[in-house]
Amino acid sequence: MGERRAALITGSTSGIGLGVATALAKAGMDVTLNGLGDAGEIERVRATLAAETGVVVRYDPANLMDGGACAGMVESAARAFGRLDVLVNNAGVQFVSPIEDFPIEKWDAIIALNLSAAFHTIRASMRGMKERRYGRIINIASAHAHVASPFKSAYVAAKHGLVGLTKTAALEGAQFNVRCNAISPGYVLTPLVENQIPDTMRAREMTREQVINDVLLAAQPTKQFVRIEEIAALALFLTTPAADQINGASLSVDGGWTAQ
Ligand code: NAD
Repeated sequence: MGERRAALITGSTSGIGLGVATALAKAGMDVTLNGLGDAGEIERVRATLAAETGVVVRYDPANLMDGGACAGMVESAARAFGRLDVLVNNAGVQFVSPIEDFPIEKWDAIIALNLSAAFHTIRASMRGMKERRYGRIINIASAHAHVASPFKSAYVAAKHGLVGLTKTAALEGAQFNVRCNAISPGYVLTPLVENQIPDTMRAREMTREQVINDVLLAAQPTKQFVRIEEIAALALFLTTPAADQINGASLSVDGGWTAQ
């Protein structure tokens, strides 16, 4: 005790992952960032976060489509910090297409990144967390872990699976002070959402405004995007003692979408 906690956040070079990493670093955790993108831009993000918070901020460029790379990233984070206390599985991609035209390689890629990568990182983290009697695993799922939308077969299937994985890891870790929960956001305006607007415009023959109001926010009763900071605050809460008995849950932050 007294040592800083060490966290690894996948897909944290942008969007929700960067928001979660920032919240954990501001709370005093050393963090490992991961994600794809321009090397110079990522180094700028890393250095800024380190300077703002005073914690150690590492970056691991692992491509999580590969299970071995997932395990290697966990192992090098644990080596660098002496342990891994908090694992946030956030990296994810989307692809929108009717099932009959859904490219098989897109299905495989989405299952690999949005579901299997979380299995591989949890698999590589669990033993050490159990041995040290401490671990907090947070999987960023989605409202699409609970309900479907047309044209998102792979994403919906992967996110439903991720909640199942969350429950299983929660049961296995329960007596070792290892907790595993999912956060299930509604629509958050990040690059992932921005990038699917053109595809949805094409698939549904709609304007950009129609896609935002009639598709993206159609089911979100508040008619507001979720803010990245709201997801980050909940992730941070799940690492505090007040959340010790939250285990195997999927916490919706979706403006009431899945209440319908
Ligand atoms: P984003 O596109 O802004 O960020 C995705 C991150 O994943 C980036 O850092 C990217 O570099 C990384 N990434 C992509 N492919 C990778 C790979 N092969 N290996 C390693 N990293 C990779 O997306 P976001 O909106 O911040 O989404 C983050 C998570 O939140 C995803 O799992 C997404 O499904 C989930 N989510 C997002 C929303 C939303 O509305 N934005 C809603 C519900 C759930």
